[in-house]
Amino acid sequence: MTLATDPSKPYRPDALVVGGGIAGMQSALDLADQGLKVMLVERGPSIGGHMIALAKVFPTLDCASCITAPKMSASSHHDNIKILVNTEVQAIQTINGVHHVKLLKKATYVNFDKCIGCRLCEYACDAEYPDPLEEGLGAKRAIGVAFTNAIPQKAVLDPELCATCGTCARVCPTDAIEFDQQPETVIVETDAVVVASGFALNSLNVKPQYNAMRSKNIISGLTMERLLAPHGPYGRVLRPSDGKIPSSVAFVQCAGSRDASIGVPYCSRVCCMYAIKQAMLLSGALPIADITIYYMDIRAFGKGYEEFYQNAKAMGVNFVRGKVARIDPVDDGDLLLHVESTEDAENFLQQHRHDLVVLAQGMLPEWDMSGTTPVRRAPDGFVATPMLTSPTATTAPGIFVAGVAAGPKDIVDTIAEAGAAAMQVSQYLYQKRSIAVDQTQAAVLVG
Ligand SMILES: Cc1cc2nc3c(=O)[nH]c(=O)nc-3n(C[C@H](O)[C@H](O)[C@H](O)COP(=O)(O)OP(=O)(O)OC[C@H]3O[C@@H](n4cnc5c(N)ncnc54)[C@H](O)[C@@H]3O)c2cc1C
Ligand code: SF4
Ligand code: SF4
Ligand code: SF4
Repeated sequence: MTLATDPSKPYRPDALVVGGGIAGMQSALDLADQGLKVMLVERGPSIGGHMIALAKVFPTLDCASCITAPKMSASSHHDNIKILVNTEVQAIQTINGVHHVKLLKKATYVNFDKCIGCRLCEYACDAEYPDPLEEGLGAKRAIGVAFTNAIPQKAVLDPELCATCGTCARVCPTDAIEFDQQPETVIVETDAVVVASGFALNSLNVKPQYNAMRSKNIISGLTMERLLAPHGPYGRVLRPSDGKIPSSVAFVQCAGSRDASIGVPYCSRVCCMYAIKQAMLLSGALPIADITIYYMDIRAFGKGYEEFYQNAKAMGVNFVRGKVARIDPVDDGDLLLHVESTEDAENFLQQHRHDLVVLAQGMLPEWDMSGTTPVRRAPDGFVATPMLTSPTATTAPGIFVAGVAAGPKDIVDTIAEAGAAAMQVSQYLYQKRSIAVDQTQAAVLVG
């Protein structure tokens, strides 16, 4: 939605939100509902964040898109929210209380004002590449709309993959393709910022002893989400190496967290719960398969989470307490897990064979703001929130944080925090503007 503003003046939002995931959308909606003008800036081609890739969510097993899609739609239709996609926030400089936010608008090679989202360019393009949204399992074209319910429904061309054949330009009914488009850097001024830049996962190869680089059947939690999604790459759960229906699936917990030697000493807080969720969904999808979760501790701290864990046990999911020391690929794509049990003293060293293994990777901050913004990082790398009484305030006045940008958390906590950040922004703006009005009135009286 483009706001009706004077085109001769640059658009100046009351608040700018960095990141269009669930945290950013919730903060933007709460601010906009209070009458504040918001700019929601997303680096990718659509808003939605990581939740777009999830199948269902713990602990309710609601479909993820049933939560995300209404918020995407509400954000895009709100008169007070201006959405910029394919745009990266690169730096923030604060001068006299005004934040100057540096944005890189990437070249999309498609004129968004002309594109009607018909996808004719996508159907005509022969240049195929692994789809990042399907964790590389499905295929995507060099040009196209990011996914079916992407917002906005606009095509983007990837110059790295384009064979410059020109077919898309020939089939486009609105002449929207612009091969000569250039990236643009712009500075937006605003009084408040919400950082909702979310997370990345550490590499599957962060622990070489797990040999993920030697087997396609050692996958990430996000890949398992896509395998379980009704519209996933295969439409059902198959193992990537040979398309076999798995009969024995292992989840290896803490595979990229709680280990200072890999730089992630903290707990990523959601992987126990999403492994349990995926195990339950797998029990439904593959009723005769064995499903085992290898864990050191189960972190099930939220409302209803312990019951969810107990339900998984009752459904027949195996829980083995111990540390997976090594994973060796064996014949037929199977995997041999070497496990140090912490519950069976007589059988301390165990070996278990599975045909698909899911590693619980560690959550890392997506955007390193140190050096380019006045915001400081905590020792774990996430945005520092030093005030216990004001948990979404950062070290920089007028800059607030929400969601996983401040540290690993689930969707419930992310949404609650995003609402709190919006409240803090409106309180901050009210105080700032009241002081400005008082000073103006005082100056008039003195004058
Ligand atoms: C495999 C897996 C399964 C999960 N399952 C569940 C579940 O069932 N239930 C549950 O409660 N939680 C679950 N979670 C956790 C859940 O995904 C997060 O709580 C939630 O996505 C956090 O949302 P967010 O908006 O903070 O971050 P994100 O979803 O990461 O969104 C951040 C957005 O910011 C954008 N961005 C980053 N940097 C910039 C920049 N500089 N400029 C512009 N944009 C930027 C990114 O592109 C992204 O779109 C799961 C996590 C994983 C990994
Ligand atoms: S670029 Fe053209 S062909 Fe492609 S989706 Fe947009 S309008 Fe349709
Ligand atoms: S010019 Fe590039 S994007 Fe367009 S159809 Fe050819 S390969 Fe695909
Ligand atoms: S949530 Fe569970 S699997 Fe993830 S790091 Fe914490 S203890 Fe390990």
